[in-house]
Amino acid sequence: MDLSYSDEEKAFREEVRTFLKNKLPKELSDKVRGGDELGKADIERWHAILNEQGWLAPNWPKKFGGAEWNAVQRHIFEEEAAAHHAPRIIPFGLSMLAPVLQKFGSKEQQDYWLPRILSGEDWWCQGYSEPGAGSDLASLKTTAVRHGDHYVVNGQKTWTTLGQHANMIFCLVRTDKEVKQQEGISFLLIDMDTPGIEVRPIVLLDGGAEVNEVWFTDVKVPVENLVGEENKGWTYAKYLLTHERTNIAGTGFSQAGLTAVKRLAKAEIAGGKPLIQNPHFAARLAQVEIDLKAMSTTNLRIISKAAAGTAPGVESSMLKVKGTIIRQEINDLARRAAGIYAMPFASEAIEGSNAGLPDPLAAGPVAAQYFNNRKLSIFGGSNEIQRGIIAKVTMGG
Ligand SMILES: Cc1cc2nc3c(=O)[nH]c(=O)nc-3n(C[C@H](O)[C@H](O)[C@H](O)COP(=O)(O)OP(=O)(O)OC[C@H]3O[C@@H](n4cnc5c(N)ncnc54)[C@H](O)[C@@H]3O)c2cc1C
Repeated sequence: MDLSYSDEEKAFREEVRTFLKNKLPKELSDKVRGGDELGKADIERWHAILNEQGWLAPNWPKKFGGAEWNAVQRHIFEEEAAAHHAPRIIPFGLSMLAPVLQKFGSKEQQDYWLPRILSGEDWWCQGYSEPGAGSDLASLKTTAVRHGDHYVVNGQKTWTTLGQHANMIFCLVRTDKEVKQQEGISFLLIDMDTPGIEVRPIVLLDGGAEVNEVWFTDVKVPVENLVGEENKGWTYAKYLLTHERTNIAGTGFSQAGLTAVKRLAKAEIAGGKPLIQNPHFAARLAQVEIDLKAMSTTNLRIISKAAAGTAPGVESSMLKVKGTIIRQEINDLARRAAGIYAMPFASEAIEGSNAGLPDPLAAGPVAAQYFNNRKLSIFGGSNEIQRGIIAKVTMGG
């Protein structure tokens, strides 16, 4: 980006670069660059390295063990981490649940759960969506009925990302069926090892199984695992979603993706010339680069607002829509630039067959990323829903 950074910010960027050069294991960056699926151990390894450095929770206040970076620092880290092909930080505990606990959780909950998120002792997943309750989340049907010192939970969650790795799930559950939908929802923390929980994988378009169904049959949850007040869960759920959407903008990933597309388009010859000189392709590339620059600036503005303690509002919907359109456009350009080399899903499947390209790793993940990132405009609240929110807030009605 063409922003002018202060000397302090430039020094911070150098510090991040040095850290990534020295501490990011090559096996991990090779996997990310090659588009290979990262296992639980890979992710835990990277989280532990960041935690040792004190950088695992950039958005948390220092009093909770976070780095408390400002907006620019976070932006710089995101850019450098993506450029060095670092694994992404898994957001469910760190940047979704943690802000909710920090704002609405009891002191006991903060003292118990937050350190465990940092240490990696707990792996959290998100139990919001249900069959029939995605966009219309408030219609969720999983019930929690109180019996003395515990709730009994029955129902089904779906699309639970990385639920196969998780030992904890934060769930929206219905605790009152008699009131308006939004007023009968509570926010519960549930141990995945409790009897009555079953996790079933869902295979996606890219061949991976990163999402799951989670079934609950008479699952007993202690009442101390209720966050905030009973039937006030909708407020906490919405607060969490604004944080989820801001993180989805993914400017660092888009920047790294754009660099890879340019590399491919320079190498690929179409009609006797490098593809990057094709006017149609070049125009699309220029447009997406302009959009990315504009969005990066907007992103910085919104992160500053969040860092100042204000939950981002409709801006997070704007970022979600724009950020995901940009990432999908970059995926599409990469797919076109890689041409037939984009055909195999797995990078190991094309070993030896892509000698014509200068950088095999840049082409390997193209197809898998293209297919996998169809999800971006669906999850975190679909882009159609975000457009509805933006229209309502900015134009009224
Ligand atoms: C890969 C992936 C990972 C996910 N991970 C998680 C997770 O970890 N935890 C979790 O809880 N959920 C997760 N989700 C679920 C995600 O949040 C939902 O898929 C999403 O909210 C959309 O809900 P739905 O799939 O039920 O679609 P629906 O709500 O049925 O929508 C279907 C289509 O109709 C459109 N539509 C619906 N209502 C309107 C409207 N009012 N105006 C205009 N258009 C509308 C939608 O935009 C969409 O195109 C994940 C989803 C995916 C694809």
